[in-house]
Amino acid sequence: MGFTLAYELDGILYLNVTNRCYNNCTFCIRKNEKGVGYDLWLDKEPTAKEILEAAGDVSKYEEIVFCGYGEPLLRPDIVETVSKKIKKQSNAKLRINTNGLAEKVLDLKFLEDLSGLIDIISISLNAHNAETYYKLSQPSVGSDAFDHILEFARRSKKYIPRVILTVVNTPEVDIEQCRRIAQDIDAEFRVRPHLT
Ligand code: SF4
Repeated sequence: MGFTLAYELDGILYLNVTNRCYNNCTFCIRKNEKGVGYDLWLDKEPTAKEILEAAGDVSKYEEIVFCGYGEPLLRPDIVETVSKKIKKQSNAKLRINTNGLAEKVLDLKFLEDLSGLIDIISISLNAHNAETYYKLSQPSVGSDAFDHILEFARRSKKYIPRVILTVVNTPEVDIEQCRRIAQDIDAEFRVRPHLT
């Protein structure tokens, strides 16, 4: 396999679960040829076994992240299976980086199944209102995507110990309004740099 299923950045292990995503964000790093320095374009979606083999010795990490090049929660069963195995072998905190729309896309509720497995969920808020979200992230689920993300974030608070809302620092986004949305949900808030 030429592509990378697991890679380390700053001591954190990242697991590349899928390339599928139903958004088309203007700032997506997949549009940037450099990416994160690894070939993350998959020839096929990996099995849980393949991800675990690529992860190797997970006991040495303090944090392990389910990510993409894509939306990892489009494969909630794989995230759950891999998390269960890792939890038996490691004290690492498990994080998911998500756009918060997979339950809507799959028409499935899976957050409860991740309770006790996932320690941190980082949800891309991306905008301060539905109109700006639609413009920046071009979600295939339609113009009510932003409301679904807010609902997903609220429900995440019930099942995941740490919920973080993130935004990319672009001129179109009202960062302070985003911060207030995170406060209302009682979530943490993080501004990510715009990688060009
Ligand atoms: S949600 Fe994430 S992976 Fe999907 S297009 Fe946006 S930035 Fe890229």
